[in-house]
Amino acid sequence: MSDSCEYIICGGGTVGCVLACRLSHAGHSVLIVEAGPEDYNEQIMSPVAAPHLHGTQFKYNMMTVEQPGLGGRSVPNHGGKLLSGSSGINYGLWTRGHSVDYDAWAELVGDNRWSYKNMLKYFKATQTHYDPNGSPEKYGFSGPITTTAAARTYPLRETIRESMLVAGLEYNPDTNGGSPFGFGPFTENWKDAQRQPASKAYDLSKATVLTNKAIARIELNESKTATGIVLIDGTRYAATKEVLVTCGALKTPQLLMLSGIGPQSHLAQHNIPTIANLPVGENYHDKISATFFWKLKNPEKGYALGSPAFNKPEFRHGNPMEWVATISTPHEELVKAAQADNLDLRDPYLQEPRGNVEVMIAYAPIAGGGSEFRVPFDGKHISSPVVLLLPTSRGSITLASTDPTADPVLNPNYLGTETDRAAMRAGMRLSLQIMEADIASGIVEGETPLPGYEPLTSACSDSDLDRRMQIVGSSFFQNAGTAAMGTVVDTQ
Ligand SMILES: Cc1cc2nc3c(=O)[nH]c(=O)nc-3n(C[C@H](O)[C@H](O)[C@H](O)COP(=O)(O)OP(=O)(O)OC[C@H]3O[C@@H](n4cnc5c(N)ncnc54)[C@H](O)[C@@H]3O)c2cc1C
Repeated sequence: MSDSCEYIICGGGTVGCVLACRLSHAGHSVLIVEAGPEDYNEQIMSPVAAPHLHGTQFKYNMMTVEQPGLGGRSVPNHGGKLLSGSSGINYGLWTRGHSVDYDAWAELVGDNRWSYKNMLKYFKATQTHYDPNGSPEKYGFSGPITTTAAARTYPLRETIRESMLVAGLEYNPDTNGGSPFGFGPFTENWKDAQRQPASKAYDLSKATVLTNKAIARIELNESKTATGIVLIDGTRYAATKEVLVTCGALKTPQLLMLSGIGPQSHLAQHNIPTIANLPVGENYHDKISATFFWKLKNPEKGYALGSPAFNKPEFRHGNPMEWVATISTPHEELVKAAQADNLDLRDPYLQEPRGNVEVMIAYAPIAGGGSEFRVPFDGKHISSPVVLLLPTSRGSITLASTDPTADPVLNPNYLGTETDRAAMRAGMRLSLQIMEADIASGIVEGETPLPGYEPLTSACSDSDLDRRMQIVGSSFFQNAGTAAMGTVVDTQ
């Protein structure tokens, strides 16, 4: 191949593949460089194998630093390391953000192109919505990513639907249509029971694709314009138009900092000359999750994964879940927590109800990656994971060394704010209420807590919930914010 092209894309992940496809189809010469391999083996493509990809060569298997919000535990955090990036290894959940979040974001960065109304055409262009009778105002029907929702009928479908109603949630058939509130069908993006990795869904045949090649740094000229890249083996490639950095939220700050773009004082610690003094790596946040496990009264009826009677072939076509619920932190508790955090009471976060936390019910004891407490997949338990959707805690990603292949230092500062803890408490209480309805209906015997702990009820104290979060809290792998719009990059 030529060592020069118009665009070089650093990182062949989810975003990199989309950009490489669009730019090359528009007639540009594009080189996309990916550190990991191209692979579509059975384990990668299977919708039920994603949890088994932890710890493999298809991932950066990193650990956070010790987290005070998690009682001092350090927990695993991951990103995909293969062509397609994290879309090649993730859980396939397809959740569109709340319209209010996009609008607040657009206002914050002063560019209305990022508002929900203006982003909608891209959301639509991306997807082929699962319901051909769905609203064309809200969804697209000819995009490269096919979605499915509540696509498999599990034995507990109606029981869980009923318990969501008993817990006071309203049914929302369109949780991906701009407002996630209430509960509705759990949406995924498997197609014909297979993963849709970005490098397959977006045609790369017109781009030059390099795999198993890690980039050591970006080259910049005297006017601070990126002109090319250097690989760790010393090979150089030049870009006549642009170098696009799409290495994901965990590795993008590392590549920028190794190229002289980052906080000056931190770069100086590693003897890296500063080309642009920018808050790269600051503003890091991730979503934390906490899961409850529930012992079934009659496991022989085949309600959960692991039971011989839980055996319809379609149960292997996606995650064993049907419903997802999203709620706000109750306003009074939110304001009290925000005051404790010294949050400006005019903050957009406090103005309109936001989707602060979500609750899922899984027909398997699914735990987050960092929780030490696990229950076997033997058909005797279901679970109710709770996920914080809008973390206000901010941490940082910094360099451990100047070695581009070393892991950076991850400090997401999980549950660092009272606002985040209040949101998690609200979600955990809802999760307990939903499952208490299942205890009442005789499906569930009760909560299985960690050894030495009492089961919790929705009437438990805040400190009981806080303690539980500290012990079982773990990453939901939604890393973000490390090259933030408005501080590190502009809105273009
Ligand atoms: C385990 C897991 C489960 C998830 N589940 C879901 C889910 O169910 N639903 C959902 O919406 N989101 C999920 N996510 C998050 C989602 O997949 C990511 O937010 C998204 O894919 C990020 O896209 P990206 O392009 O920014 O980065 P990525 O897709 O991670 O791509 C970054 C790419 O850059 C490459 N790279 C990095 N550094 C270099 C370098 N120096 N040289 C060359 N290449 C480099 C990496 O190898 C990688 O391929 C999950 C993530 C993980 C890790």
